[in-house]
Amino acid sequence: MKSCSMHPTRTAHWHCPECGRDYCRQCVIRQEGGPLTGGRLLRSCPKCLAETSWIGAETVIKPFWERLPRFFVYPLAPGTVIYMAVLALGGLVFRNWIVQFICWVLLLNYAYVALKNTASGNLNPPGVDEMISGDFLGVVLPVVKQAVLVFVLIVLGVFVAGHTGIFGGLSYLILVMFMLPSMIIVLVNTESLLTALNPAAFLALPFKIGKAYFIMFVFLAILFFAPGALLQWLLPYLPAWLGAYLMAFAENYYTVISYHLMGYVLLQYHETLGYEMGADDIRDPSRREPEIADEPAVREAKMVEVLCREGDHESAVEHIRQWHSQGGEFTADLARQYFQLLKNKNDTSGMLEHAPEYLDLAVAEGRKDEALEVYDTCRKIDRNFTVNPPALFKIGEWMAEAGRFKDALKTFSRLIKKFPEADEVPLSYFRLAQLYYDRLMDADRARKIMRTLVKKFPDHEMNSRFQNYLEYLGGV
Ligand SMILES: [Zn+2]
Ligand SMILES: [Zn+2]
Repeated sequence: MKSCSMHPTRTAHWHCPECGRDYCRQCVIRQEGGPLTGGRLLRSCPKCLAETSWIGAETVIKPFWERLPRFFVYPLAPGTVIYMAVLALGGLVFRNWIVQFICWVLLLNYAYVALKNTASGNLNPPGVDEMISGDFLGVVLPVVKQAVLVFVLIVLGVFVAGHTGIFGGLSYLILVMFMLPSMIIVLVNTESLLTALNPAAFLALPFKIGKAYFIMFVFLAILFFAPGALLQWLLPYLPAWLGAYLMAFAENYYTVISYHLMGYVLLQYHETLGYEMGADDIRDPSRREPEIADEPAVREAKMVEVLCREGDHESAVEHIRQWHSQGGEFTADLARQYFQLLKNKNDTSGMLEHAPEYLDLAVAEGRKDEALEVYDTCRKIDRNFTVNPPALFKIGEWMAEAGRFKDALKTFSRLIKKFPEADEVPLSYFRLAQLYYDRLMDADRARKIMRTLVKKFPDHEMNSRFQNYLEYLGGV
């Protein structure tokens, strides 16, 4: 198993053909692929931005053509066999189309769940209890969607044949037969009929996996015709009822295998096909990642991360600086990374210049310790360092919370002095008074501040509260 060139302990899933590096799933840049890829995400190398190729689940699971015999064993769990047997019986004993229809829906639903489970890495057939406990819509809807898909294809076929004659109709039939597995896989994957019927989506599968799709198709075709051909030999020697029953059972059996196989193909190629799952732990479907493109700042962070890992901090700083000057917007994480880089190379003027923007973001996200540390660092470099009033006010409050009362006092005083027009000024007075009274036991000072506050901001929305506090301090 290959490991990520940046994280030696992580399994690499992507390989860059340009620079030859391997990456884990966190390192590659995810971006929209555009209309030609059917909305699939592209994974690019954070170093050279070339599209990476998936190293493949072959590092985790065997390709399906190497385990074909195992597919036949798949439905042979006791519960599954009984379920298939009962459904085959139900359709024959009650010669009633409603019962037959229900049996068909239940079987197709079971096959559908088998496909889904397989695709998410569970190679055991679903339990029958899983079927019965499901809600009615959950059972019927996927089957209805598959039926509508086939119906639409037939209507289209009649239309095509009507306009292009027998030759056109036949070509259409062959094409649809060949594409049907892809459409079903897309349907299960996205649960959207429209996507399943969208050529950009169903063509992506055969194009992406190439030869493997052809092998799967041939195998599915054999599965489709095999039960009939096999029983053709046996039927003359069997009572008619038994022949009919075996036929019905075999159909169920092969349907489940076919869906399991389609699920396995989805599992084997899930990253190439944009079907995300936790490949590090094949059995745990809850670890699926959302299939979304990276934000510009995340993308930038990944590119810079490569430079940092290679020790090229100079280029890393320059990379972010240029990106930002071209309109790239920081997130708190990227701003932090940039600040650390500047700090490491001791670029104090760069730090002071970047810190206000960084602190705005850090404060907005409530990163208390981080914000205080950055603020203190910058104040040590330059006594006149200051940030925007909202961030400065929050920093003052956090200092008070942390028991740094004198620093908090200084911060609120600075705010009042440096930004006399700011919205935060009245509350800064109020906090100052509270700190003097509660923490420094200086009631005189507190009263003086409160009198100034009440006089200076008679129209403030909190004025009555200020008045009350002043009364409480005995200052009226
Ligand atoms: Zn590369
Ligand atoms: Zn990595």
